[in-house]
Amino acid sequence: MLVIRDLTERKATQCRIEHLAHHDALTDLPNRLLFDTRIRQAMQTAECTHGAVALLVLDLDRFKSVNDIFGHAEGDRVLRRVTAMLQDSTGPKDTVARLGGDEFAIIQPDQIQPAAARQLAERILSTFAAEMDTARDPTAVGVSIGIAIYPGDGDSPEQLCNNADMALYRVKHTARGGACFFDADMDLAVRTRRQLESDLRRAVDRRQLHVCYQPFIELRTGEVTGYEALARWHHPSCGMIEPEVFIPIAEESGSIIQLGEWILEQACLEAVRWRAGSTVAVNISPVQFKLPSLHEVVVRVLARTGLPAHRLELEITEKALAADSIGVVATLMRLKALGIRIVMDDFGTGYSSLSSLRSFPFDKLKIDRSFILSLEHDVAAQSIVRAIIGLGNSLGMPVVAEGVETDMQRRIVLNEGCTLVQGMLFGKPGIEPSAKPASVAPRLKGAPL
Ligand code: C2E
Ligand code: MG
Ligand code: MG
Repeated sequence: MLVIRDLTERKATQCRIEHLAHHDALTDLPNRLLFDTRIRQAMQTAECTHGAVALLVLDLDRFKSVNDIFGHAEGDRVLRRVTAMLQDSTGPKDTVARLGGDEFAIIQPDQIQPAAARQLAERILSTFAAEMDTARDPTAVGVSIGIAIYPGDGDSPEQLCNNADMALYRVKHTARGGACFFDADMDLAVRTRRQLESDLRRAVDRRQLHVCYQPFIELRTGEVTGYEALARWHHPSCGMIEPEVFIPIAEESGSIIQLGEWILEQACLEAVRWRAGSTVAVNISPVQFKLPSLHEVVVRVLARTGLPAHRLELEITEKALAADSIGVVATLMRLKALGIRIVMDDFGTGYSSLSSLRSFPFDKLKIDRSFILSLEHDVAAQSIVRAIIGLGNSLGMPVVAEGVETDMQRRIVLNEGCTLVQGMLFGKPGIEPSAKPASVAPRLKGAPL
């Protein structure tokens, strides 16, 4: 009797250990180990029956912020809720697995594909839309889904997983909160982007990056008041890559943090060589504002380079304020308290230009170049420029017109009361001003007054 009870208990313990080894402790879903076995089995069966297997990989949007802001207990609750939602959306033969953090996967065997995978993805997305009210619930998360199907998209589990991941990567970088099937073109586009991402990480060390300087001109005197630092990347095989291409890549991959500090340091090192009054303006990405250490970084760079704080301007866009305006405004206040000037860049292009002016006392506004570009022919652009200049004047914020290319544009902005300009008419972004003889903030020869 005792022996039998002992045996049963031992068996039960063994089962429990087995279960723990193959399941995730928080959600009790199959873990990566069991997922690997199941996908292999499903593909083998499909090979024998000439069937198909869909693999859906899922990633939660905003989960990281929920975890950071509301704590791990709340993060755990969200993961359990998502688990229940996924289980309700799937069929009895499907496997829902948790592969790590906020990463889930679903194996869908024995169905007509791709129709069944499409329906499953739609079911999941509509469940999220119904149950996760992002407008009201700050802990609500979204979901992105990448889908690959055996046999077309891969004949090994590794390849199928890679391709589903690639489709997920595409969703994350285009239409957040949707689903996307893998296709071969995507393979090439994603590979190129990933390659650029990794090249960019090494670009500073390989001396492929440099900083250009474009002057700001005081219209009434023709004087150069300072320069904006603009990053340039000379890629060994692709040639010159525009900042509008590589800055977003650096932002998404996080390398903007190191890159941004490097650019700031280069710009400050250069600016100490100019005459005392000249300022240097450096663009700061919204991603840099997410780090609480931005203030320290700036203080450190100023100390290392010896540039007085009042000669540094930081240009930010509305996007920085949209992300987490309270934290960002606090950082801006601390930077401003050092004597640094804070400039609102690309003004007029965002969704909440006016409210961003209320949230922080900017030292300067830069009218986006798209308005200046259409000034000559577009009455609406003229009215907008007039309104922005008026607004800046009444708030005591000097206004800079960027992208001034023609004399006509210069005259219009001058007539509207704008005193500071930047643009090809006055100077393209060029080499370090200190490297040009007698160019330390000279009076611009031939600059129209
Ligand atoms: P931005 O800060 O608005 O910079 C002004 C852009 O206008 C620059 O483009 C400049 O070359 C361009 N520009 C100046 N005058 C004219 C003109 O007369 N006509 C036209 N059509 N364009 C003119 P660039 O250098 O290509 O930079 C594009 C954007 O990339 C910048 O816009 C900025 O948002 C970003 N960026 C550049 N360097 C950095 C950087 O170091 N850090 C960060 N975070 N962003 C940067
Ligand atoms: Mg700028
Ligand atoms: Mg701009």
